[in-house]
Amino acid sequence: MKDLSIIRSAVSPSATLAVDTKFKEMKAQGIPVVGFGAGEPDFDTPDHIKEAGIQAIRDGKTKYTPTPGTVSLRKAIAYRMKEDLGLIFDYDAIVVSNGAKACLYATMITLLNPGDEVIVPGPYWVSYTEQISMVGGVPVVVMAGEEQCFKITPQQLESAVTEKTKAVIINNPANPTGMVYNRDELLALAEVCLRHDLYIVADEIYYRLCYDNREFVSIASLSEEIRQHCIVINGVSKSYAMTGWRCGFAMCGNKRVAKVMSTCLGHLMGNIGAMNQCAMEEAMLGPQDSVFVMQKVFEERRNYLVERINSIDGVSCIKPSGAFYVMMNIEKLIGKTLGGRVINSADDFAIAFLEKGLVAVVACTAFGAPHYVRWTYATSMENIKEGVDRLEKFLQE
Ligand code: PMP
Repeated sequence: MKDLSIIRSAVSPSATLAVDTKFKEMKAQGIPVVGFGAGEPDFDTPDHIKEAGIQAIRDGKTKYTPTPGTVSLRKAIAYRMKEDLGLIFDYDAIVVSNGAKACLYATMITLLNPGDEVIVPGPYWVSYTEQISMVGGVPVVVMAGEEQCFKITPQQLESAVTEKTKAVIINNPANPTGMVYNRDELLALAEVCLRHDLYIVADEIYYRLCYDNREFVSIASLSEEIRQHCIVINGVSKSYAMTGWRCGFAMCGNKRVAKVMSTCLGHLMGNIGAMNQCAMEEAMLGPQDSVFVMQKVFEERRNYLVERINSIDGVSCIKPSGAFYVMMNIEKLIGKTLGGRVINSADDFAIAFLEKGLVAVVACTAFGAPHYVRWTYATSMENIKEGVDRLEKFLQE
């Protein structure tokens, strides 16, 4: 048989899969493992949002809609974004698709020609680099270590720009680091982007999850010129506990971007479920209290997890200001034998910790940080306590 697409068959499967598959196997065998892998809230979707989805089905909202979403949904998104972030986008600059993930992919399709470079600050969420490669683009990773709080500087950005650079991804708050760029930091990065006329792909899916009363600033709110260069990616998965509804959106500073994106999606997948759009509209326009309740609970869990990790010899972490992840530094464990396995990398640690400690965390090797593992605190306090108790025990043995 003829070979498959060279570009597409080179795409890596999710690097977190090995530990996840083993975790599920162990669980199925009745072994009491605790998981800290999945990046999704453990909360259920708020009732008023569920009801809106159910009502929509009863009302016969079961047909095709315009590809980028109904006008009323896009107006509701525009309202919420103005309310929360001061962003001004017309409804026809907004494209709704299957979660933030599909919106990001649609953005890459829309922006990139083969060989175009996209700068990805690292440690990064794995899908960025794979999506860029999938459309023939070239990811250029710029790493920011713990000593710079996992945030890239404008100088680093500047030196990564070439004549092939088309766009930069700014994920704020970030997965996997939980770091949040402030207004000045964003402004400095945006200035570099404007100087080189680069698109800014601003993934702000975690914008509601900022802690310590920290103000979240959208990069697109900094100036009209910056806004025009932005494609802001957002959605309801994380803030409204709606991961399974697959509702995300892209807000395009340049309406031509929205138009091309929508045309491409029209041939690719069409609109997202009409009833899901009604639920998303309710999330945008309905009461927002549940968002704040969840945010508060995440903050308490973060405080607990960070404090416990830093009280244990051999591991440490910096306190993240957003999202629901903690990067645990395991550098001091490199070369040691734990659970019968020599630890040469985060992958070795993750496997040993799962097999012997019965806890699943994610090795950050695939995120560009081989001496870190990622915990998520989008799980119950009870699990978090159990997980760190087990870590303590695992490191002592
Ligand atoms: N961006 C980032 C940074 C994420 O962590 C995730 C989910 N893990 C997404 C986008 C995708 O979100 P969605 O479920 O809306 O596709």
